Amino acid sequence: MVRLRPVLVVHYHEISLKRGNRPLFLRHLRRNLERALADLGAPGIAQLSGRIVVDLDGHPAPELVRERVTRVFGVASATVAYRAPSTLDAMKAVLGRLLEGRSFPSFRISARRAFKTYPMTSVELNRALGAFVLERVATRVDLEHAAQDIRVEVLPAETYISLDRVEGPGGLPVGASGTVAALLSGGIDSPVAAWRMMKRGCRVMLVHFHSVPYLPATSQAKARALVARLTEWQYVSRLHLVPFGEIQREVVLAVPPPLRVVVYRRLMLRIAEALARRAGALALVTGESLGQVASQTLENIACIDAAATLPVLRPLIGMDKLEITAQAQRLGTFEISIEPDADCCTLFTPKHPATRAGLAEVEAVEARLDLSRLVTAGADGATVEAFDWPPAPAAVRV
Ligand code: ATP
Ligand code: MG
Repeated sequence: MVRLRPVLVVHYHEISLKRGNRPLFLRHLRRNLERALADLGAPGIAQLSGRIVVDLDGHPAPELVRERVTRVFGVASATVAYRAPSTLDAMKAVLGRLLEGRSFPSFRISARRAFKTYPMTSVELNRALGAFVLERVATRVDLEHAAQDIRVEVLPAETYISLDRVEGPGGLPVGASGTVAALLSGGIDSPVAAWRMMKRGCRVMLVHFHSVPYLPATSQAKARALVARLTEWQYVSRLHLVPFGEIQREVVLAVPPPLRVVVYRRLMLRIAEALARRAGALALVTGESLGQVASQTLENIACIDAAATLPVLRPLIGMDKLEITAQAQRLGTFEISIEPDADCCTLFTPKHPATRAGLAEVEAVEARLDLSRLVTAGADGATVEAFDWPPAPAAVRV
């Protein structure tokens, strides 16, 4: 009886890649896969014509490997497959073992040849292996709605046969698109915004503004918990904690209540931009969604944008709260975000913020502030914390 030799076949959406980007994409994808599996015995990873193959032979926790891989951006799907020499008899021997004890009402064989000089066509392989299945299992062929899809990938060196496939998150590998700085509050939206940028291949540095000692340190604890969760998607993170209470106090003394929220946001952007430039980040990210709250009107957004020179990306701008909340729940950030806390923007915040702040008006009141001193104080006063994932090998049982 043949011994089954499992591998994990990782597919990516190569089609969406421009030719010149492919080597970069693959370099980051491979590095991120290695990173995500570092504490699981670092299984061997090989790049083979259009897919990446992770060796699972003898691995004690293949399902854990797959679970990790299906959370790496850039991965379209991950399939546990079994290696066979590329002869019909060898394929049948492996398939025969895989079918042992299985039953399914309908099936199809989906054969693909990665090299077209293989002596049998895909259709011939489908027929031969289909007949083989029908001899062993009481089932029928259904090409349209098969209960069981049996995939056969014929590569130059060998063939991979698999019965199940799990979708990955898609997107681009973290690192392939450069670094951005995300403004992370303790709310529901900004962690989702940061995650969406990771999904587009960005490494995201996180910037949180707190009002200690005017408010308790709860918001920092939430920011840390959120970053720990987000780090599972980018492996290393840096959280910048900016003391903002003193800055807000100065704003309160100089700025009339309706304009304060816009002025706070503009200061936050300027400080985040100073930190971003020091770290080589190319854009800023916020969790704003158009019209979600009184302060997120187009007029206010335009006014806030004018304070930044780096592009301000708002990945949630067209999403509604229900969609954002559902995403936060899937990510596991929702539970953290809804913990009660006094956000720094509730401190010194007026009941009725301006919904249509005019830039001239805002600039006029800002002229009463020593902006460059405030920005420097915020950026230089920031503390940085580093996050790492997965945990060190010793701490994990495989
Ligand atoms: P969130 O759920 O992300 O807090 P929100 O709907 O509460 O968003 P606002 O309070 O208007 O909206 O904040 C808009 C954006 O400004 C946030 O998504 C975030 O990017 C940024 N922001 C607000 N407060 C802070 C803070 N304390 N630290 C860092 N960024 C902040
Ligand atoms: Mg908020």
